[in-house]
Amino acid sequence: MDSKSLLAQAQQMQPELVQHRRHLHTIPEFGLELPKTLAYVTQAVEDLGELTVAPEISCAVLHIKGGKPGPTVLLRADMDALAVTEDTGLDFASTNGFMHACGHDLHMAMGIGAAKLLHTNRAELAGDVVVFFQSGEEGHGGADLMLERQMHMVSGSLPIAAYGLHVFSAAPSRNFASRPGPMMASAGDVIVTFTGKGGHGSMPWGGKDPITPMVQAINAIQQLTTKSFDAFDQVIVNVGWVRAGDTHTTNIVPETAAFGATIRTFSRENFTRIRTELENLMRSIAAGFGVEVNVEFSAASKVVINTPANVDRVKAVVAEAFGKERYEHMDQPIPGGEDYASILEVIPGAFVFLGAPDPTAEPQNRHANHSNKAVYDDSVLADGAALLAMLAFDALAS
Ligand SMILES: [Zn+2]
Repeated sequence: MDSKSLLAQAQQMQPELVQHRRHLHTIPEFGLELPKTLAYVTQAVEDLGELTVAPEISCAVLHIKGGKPGPTVLLRADMDALAVTEDTGLDFASTNGFMHACGHDLHMAMGIGAAKLLHTNRAELAGDVVVFFQSGEEGHGGADLMLERQMHMVSGSLPIAAYGLHVFSAAPSRNFASRPGPMMASAGDVIVTFTGKGGHGSMPWGGKDPITPMVQAINAIQQLTTKSFDAFDQVIVNVGWVRAGDTHTTNIVPETAAFGATIRTFSRENFTRIRTELENLMRSIAAGFGVEVNVEFSAASKVVINTPANVDRVKAVVAEAFGKERYEHMDQPIPGGEDYASILEVIPGAFVFLGAPDPTAEPQNRHANHSNKAVYDDSVLADGAALLAMLAFDALAS
């Protein structure tokens, strides 16, 4: 399939994609319950293939059958918004207390656009494409829930490649970017609670102070991550809250002290290792002070690891359709998390970033993803839709 022709078709669709995106922007929904969003998206794609809907998790997969036999490729668009009160002043700003502050409204519009391009040109498609419209990306495990339901298997065979896109509101340009290997960190939480014995602050030896081991533990974690883990395969553990005692009194030994931290890793090995070693460290510190400890890890997203061959395809397809200056190689992964990682655990593929910076704001005044002031340039929609469709064509043709 000629990529220039696909791009021209996508550009013709641009006004319609903007309409989809802006409507979806006005109805942001949260987590795994996106009834309005799901209804809108499924209506937009229902004539383009066979739809399988999982209403209990507000997810859908569209199966587009190619005109020629062949394997399957998976494309993914996430659909959930954030619990952020929008303050952009846009005329299509949301007013319901949620906001598409991470640009998933653009991802949906691009997913709809890619599906249209693939359906229109299906006679030339040497295999099938399944398009994931996924809820719950923002820490709700949506990708895993779709995989658990075997929604990636709707064509009857495991896809040979998976591609997904993410837009950035504070990017320096409208370029595409990716990298082979780790691209985004795993992201998860830990809550550590030390339980001692309450007592009088004048005689701490009469109780079992839980604050002292907690303070030691917070310091020790920073030493663990720098002394036991490779500096070139970093582990980030950042404590975001601590809780102990009562601000009304200083003369009481509280019974419990707790903290919560986010954990980021850039390799599958460290994902497992930091959890084991952190728990061991917490137990030994607690034992040393004679208190109890409870270490609770949340469900975490995995590391986004791109397969080199699929990143090469992204680079080649961008160069052919948009010019090689539109592709940027990322020197480093970024510490943000993405549950698209779970899809890449099962299917080789690539994740691609696409700059969508507000063209009316100076670079230093742009607001990043997740900000209540984040503004995205939706003139990138045709490019994003075209790239997804081109990647599917290319992967199936090879
Ligand atoms: Zn996002």
